[in-house]
Amino acid sequence: MKINHWLLAVVAPFISACSQPDTTKANNDQTSKVVKETAGTKVVDQNVNFEAFKSQFIEAFWKENPGYALYVGYYKYDDQLVIPNKENSIGSLNFAKSYLSKLAKFNPRTLDNGNASDYYIIKNRLESTEWYISTYKGNEWNPSRFNVAGAFGLILNTDYKSLDERLKTISTRLENIPAYYEAAISNITVPTLEHTALAIQQNKGALGIFESSIPAKLIESGLTDQEKSEIKIKLKQAVESINSYISWLQSKHDSLADGGAKNFRIGKTLYQQKFKLDIVSDYSADELYQRAIVAKNELHKQMIEITTELWPKYFQKKNMPEDKLVAVKQLIDHLSVKHVERDQFVNEVKRQIPLIEAYINEADLLDMDPSRPLVVRETPEYQRGIAGASVNAPGPYDATANTYYNVTPLDHFNDEQAESYLREYNHWILQILNIHEAVPGHYVQLVHSNKSPSMIKAIFGNGAMVEGWAVYSEKMMLESGYGNQEPELWLMYSKWNLRVVVNTILDYSIQVLDMNKEDGLNLLTNQAFQEKTEAEGKWRRATLSQVQLTSYFNGFAEIYEFREAMKKEQGDKFNLKAFHNEFLSYGSAPVPIIKQLMREKIR
Ligand code: ZN
Ligand code: ZN
Repeated sequence: MKINHWLLAVVAPFISACSQPDTTKANNDQTSKVVKETAGTKVVDQNVNFEAFKSQFIEAFWKENPGYALYVGYYKYDDQLVIPNKENSIGSLNFAKSYLSKLAKFNPRTLDNGNASDYYIIKNRLESTEWYISTYKGNEWNPSRFNVAGAFGLILNTDYKSLDERLKTISTRLENIPAYYEAAISNITVPTLEHTALAIQQNKGALGIFESSIPAKLIESGLTDQEKSEIKIKLKQAVESINSYISWLQSKHDSLADGGAKNFRIGKTLYQQKFKLDIVSDYSADELYQRAIVAKNELHKQMIEITTELWPKYFQKKNMPEDKLVAVKQLIDHLSVKHVERDQFVNEVKRQIPLIEAYINEADLLDMDPSRPLVVRETPEYQRGIAGASVNAPGPYDATANTYYNVTPLDHFNDEQAESYLREYNHWILQILNIHEAVPGHYVQLVHSNKSPSMIKAIFGNGAMVEGWAVYSEKMMLESGYGNQEPELWLMYSKWNLRVVVNTILDYSIQVLDMNKEDGLNLLTNQAFQEKTEAEGKWRRATLSQVQLTSYFNGFAEIYEFREAMKKEQGDKFNLKAFHNEFLSYGSAPVPIIKQLMREKIR
């Protein structure tokens, strides 16, 4: 395994391994230096200074990013809609520069483990800010970055203060919408056709919140008629601004359709840089791609073995097809008819969660927190999108709120769509989905993460760690004996896991190696057993984003490899439950940092 430069800095020896106080409780008078008298010499504890720095940084960061703050449950600046103009970009660059130089006054070697890892997380965040503005320049070519709906929906639908107060907040925010979209247009130079089409679609979707959701809440509010009519005027302006942005994009799209649009593929250099900043991995982008190819071949081998073993059980004397992958596909299709009835989908998830939890306790795999139960519910209407299931965890500022497992009922499907969906989330895959989303995947990880004493890690959670953990937990559960090593479950798991492996191959191939659509769809359908519609959707996603699709496999590969290494190093002393609890106790930090901190602690 190659260690990148970024990690080498983390490998530097740390002074101590004590835990740090919760930054939410740190107050400003800690800025005064604490001086310890030690045998006549004065030792300044840099950890105290660093805690103060972090508190100050976080507060300044929210002031700089009020929209982002809403998504973590920090509402102090909720009435501010930032106008994405040139001045704002310059402001963000200055913010990053200024905090990078403040950060440079600290030597991570004089900080304890928790603070040292926070140091690198903040550094990564600020360097990313600089890179995205100065090098990546998404504002110039990705019109879908400009959409105001999300934050308005969040304020409207989150009960953090009374409805009347929230509507007043919305009223203030609405004022900046015309300027917001004017700035959006002035940013865009040569967009890609794909991001332009997406921006048109999503901004059309944004209209509903201003045309119907907010007006509906206005009726049930206690605002005066005067206040209501003021808001209605602003809503009308908002709708006009969004509509004129949509028509501007439409004409841009038409004029570029015959050539001249930017290529959606970002190419090798940008890809490698983005991978390094977004994922934070011990692997390079190319290395991960190579690993994914090996993993794909390995999974194919296992699936063929299982299929060969199970073939007579399900197909009796019928010959297995010559092409082994075709045989695998036939067996998967045959097994997929085992699924719940469409009206039982949500109930089945509700039924399974306690059973999976009981298994985890019995097998002694990790700690769970019965005081913070998972609430399984039907996805609220306003959150219903494509995803059938997702976990809605409370943000770091609201760590005591419920964690919801949103499961979307299949009401909106016709019979054919429902059948196809249920075959996808069949008897076996549904269990793996519950493991991934809930226990011991996202829900359990996020509960641990919000308990982490570091606000920095809770806020700037690393996606590869978060997704990597959920993917790791699937394999860990099956290996530990969940499902009694049933070959059918392993076969379905392999298909499921193949998806994250192939996502990595697809993303790299499209963005760096110029893979065309035909080859992409062939990879997804023939080698990853995906349906045509799913493959089309994945192709589209891989043209609209870069690197994010690799986060699942990267995190999974790193965590799994780390656990195997620790097993080997610790021999008889290795304890799986202790390993998991310790791993999760660092919060959603990048896996390379957690690895380093765990190793430091053992030494
Ligand atoms: Zn069926
Ligand atoms: Zn996930």
